[in-house]
Amino acid sequence: MVKILELDLDYKVLKALFRSETPLKVGDLSKRLIFPHSTIGSCVKRLEDNGHVIYTRYKPVFLTEKGKNLAIELIRHSRLLEMLLINELGLDNEIAHEESEKFNLLFSCETINKICRKYNHPKECPCGESILTSQRCNCNEEVQD
Ligand SMILES: [Zn+2]
Ligand SMILES: [Zn+2]
Repeated sequence: MVKILELDLDYKVLKALFRSETPLKVGDLSKRLIFPHSTIGSCVKRLEDNGHVIYTRYKPVFLTEKGKNLAIELIRHSRLLEMLLINELGLDNEIAHEESEKFNLLFSCETINKICRKYNHPKECPCGESILTSQRCNCNEEVQD
């Protein structure tokens, strides 16, 4: 259980770093995500150990290429699930956006790419967030049927 919660927080931090237009320090992340400073601190340490961020004490946290790519992947999976929730269940855009944020990477890239193809490779969700292709998803627009 603890492991799942840690992973969930790691993903939240990666997405926050990717979405932010300004560099964020641990304190900024703590305020933005409403988690204690120490919790974010150990999360950043974990992300650093995994090669997802570069961090120097008192300085902003920076995403590595690997971290950036994982953030793109996480956002892509959520946004395409959002499209499915809107189109198939008729959920409101904002509710679908929020609900899909909880999913993280529970679905395979193949499934996510099927949704991408079904809706003709949307470039952004109705709320306006970009849907990019990560190295892992590698959804190729040429292979659509
Ligand atoms: Zn994927
Ligand atoms: Zn696509």
